[in-house]
Amino acid sequence: MSALTALSAIHHSPVERISGPVLHIDLDAIAQNHRALRRLAPAATIAAVVKADAYGIGAEPVARRLLEEDCGLFFVATFGEAVALRRVLGSTPEILILNGVAPADIAACHALRLTPVLNSLVQAKAWAAAGAQGRRKAVLQVDTGMSRLGLSVAEQAQLIATPGLREQLDLGLIMSHLAIADEPDHPGNVAQWQAFQSARQRFPSVPASLANSAGLFLGPDYHFDLCRPGAALYGIESGPRMTGIRPVMRLTAPVIQIRTIERDTAVGYGYSFRASRMMRLATVGVGYADGWPRRFAESGAAYFGDRRLPIVGRVSMDSFSVDVSALPGEALKEGDRLELIGPHQSADDVARAAGTIGYEILTSFGKRHHKIYSGWSLS
Ligand SMILES: *Cc1c(COP(=O)(O)O)cnc(C)c1O
Repeated sequence: MSALTALSAIHHSPVERISGPVLHIDLDAIAQNHRALRRLAPAATIAAVVKADAYGIGAEPVARRLLEEDCGLFFVATFGEAVALRRVLGSTPEILILNGVAPADIAACHALRLTPVLNSLVQAKAWAAAGAQGRRKAVLQVDTGMSRLGLSVAEQAQLIATPGLREQLDLGLIMSHLAIADEPDHPGNVAQWQAFQSARQRFPSVPASLANSAGLFLGPDYHFDLCRPGAALYGIESGPRMTGIRPVMRLTAPVIQIRTIERDTAVGYGYSFRASRMMRLATVGVGYADGWPRRFAESGAAYFGDRRLPIVGRVSMDSFSVDVSALPGEALKEGDRLELIGPHQSADDVARAAGTIGYEILTSFGKRHHKIYSGWSLS
């Protein structure tokens, strides 16, 4: 079965026949977010960061959908992700590998037209030595304050001072990454911007890229020639200035049992909850093995229509309980689906309550969630 057939099979399976959690993903909303970012930075190219399986949403359908939006440049994290994406996208779109490349994979990068981001002097030399020149433009990352990936100022000087290296590396892009763009007023942003400008002067007339999602909302000074949004495409919060971005997903899970318990009965592991009255409970079929955060139990809820159903007791590996006492008798049945992420609570709301960020919530979904895509055109 081809990947496309597999996808359309998933797309067409009715949700009633699925017994576990379902992630509903609106590819049109992702496309609209891409358009919104293009309007925000009209002079720049808006790439798409689809690393980690597009933050758990599904790199293949996301990239295919964005290809229809004329997005021609995709960032992944690893060589393996790049190889998989190349199979999906055909030979034309540019695929850049954020974590760079091991020497053993350089030949395969050439064969598959994959472009590693050169993050260190060692990588730059290895790429040049493997005869990169004339075959593909190189992408160089400089560090401007995050101390994660990219050449330091000293390494940039060494690169320039190494005879022939600058010529062998046919630089097509110089990039850096913002560490604190989600705090727009933090002086670290301006400091990184200035360090980036200095680096650009060392590599004159090479196109430049600095902004991730939050960087896009710092204003046009931060846009340069290419922007690299991930989170904003997927509707996750990335900084207080983010506007015009719509949510792209809903998570639902089925009620797998309904029960009534007497006063003083304990619920869940550790007997952490004890009923102070007679209660009706629904057991929901999703747990921390599905990426549903265990810490969310302390303050969290699921929704049935507009009704908020508070979580009681601890979240188990594959299930948790909600209090449904307030619902009229037969309103909720086994098999009904509750909303865990959707119009009533966003991935970021869940993240905040669980002491993490929306990025982590999304990327920890994935394996067990059945995914249903809408806004998918098979043309
Ligand atoms: C992950 C990543 C991005 C995308 O960041 P978002 O905050 O999701 O927009 C951009 N650039 C680099 C280097 C990254 O590692």
